[in-house]
Amino acid sequence: MLLDTYGRIATDLRVSLTDRCNLRCTYCMPEEGLQWLGKPELLTDDEIVRLVRIAVTLLGVKDVRFTGGEPLLRPGLVGIVERCAALEPRPKLSLTTNGVGLERTAAALHAAGLNRVNVSLDTLRPEVFQALTRRKRHHDVLRGLEAARDAGLTPVKVNGVLIRGVNHDEAPELLAWALGNGYELRFIEQMPLDAQHGWQRSDMVTAQEILASLAARFALTPEPDAARGHAPAEHWLVDGGPYRVGVIASVTRPFCRACDRTRLTADGQIRNCLFAREESDLRGALRSGGSDEEIAESWKVAMWGKKAGSGLDDPSFLQPERPMSAIGG
Ligand code: SAM
Ligand code: SF4
Repeated sequence: MLLDTYGRIATDLRVSLTDRCNLRCTYCMPEEGLQWLGKPELLTDDEIVRLVRIAVTLLGVKDVRFTGGEPLLRPGLVGIVERCAALEPRPKLSLTTNGVGLERTAAALHAAGLNRVNVSLDTLRPEVFQALTRRKRHHDVLRGLEAARDAGLTPVKVNGVLIRGVNHDEAPELLAWALGNGYELRFIEQMPLDAQHGWQRSDMVTAQEILASLAARFALTPEPDAARGHAPAEHWLVDGGPYRVGVIASVTRPFCRACDRTRLTADGQIRNCLFAREESDLRGALRSGGSDEEIAESWKVAMWGKKAGSGLDDPSFLQPERPMSAIGG
């Protein structure tokens, strides 16, 4: 299994399928000028499926989430899902997407074996969406969400990031909309993982602020800690339940001590933490004839070195070189 020196066991694998995206969220990417990975550097579909198979059959991984960049841009996505769904033991499969184009693919993804989706949506206002993502695709995302729900990719979760001065006041509106549509909403604190290294603590809307603005309109009851498990989100029952809202306070209330994640970048690097500054190359071993057992061993070594925490609260914290879009969010 994928154990580290603090006794944590990683069973949740995030696979980045591409570093490219069709949106340009201001907290993630610059408008232009990002260098994309070249085709030869990207893992092929076969290589991805092989690594997922090694993770599932030799390393105890139980959950696999496809992400990016924008994973729906990966031409072989449905095939990758189908082949991963055929693995024994069968991992739970999910996808994090911006939802653009999901309307066209939701049913095929469900048929291929995808269990769930998380769709990122930060605002209900089309003009704010355009300012945040630099693209006019708000309507596509809403349609993608509906298609995911109708296809049975449930529970459909919505991820929202709030930015001061842009959509900081939208939390109650987003929650009312999510409740009305049967989506489970989670807010994510803005993290220093943007490609342009422009994150400032003062721009971040904190978990505390989000909860205060929700509490003005809804009665929130904290779910017991025991219900949280390894999830980075803390949850609150809304108006007595059964619906709930989550907050991922990665910056102000990190949950590193229970982290169960391991990450594979689109170019075949293992990262033991979103905030790690080191990566371990598996692509070299894959392409030079490494056996499954050798690759599994390198993966174990990469995870063994996982640090206790993200280091975000340490004044010496240095943002990782690669942005969230390249690591896989
Ligand atoms: N493109 C897909 C999407 O947007 O859902 C998948 C990749 S994206 C990097 C994954 C998640 O990371 C999204 O929910 C996005 O809002 C979030 N994200 C990106 N940059 C972030 C940042 N600097 N801080 C917090 N969350 C961020
Ligand atoms: Fe693209 Fe997702 Fe980053 Fe937005 S958050 S730019 S949708 S990768």
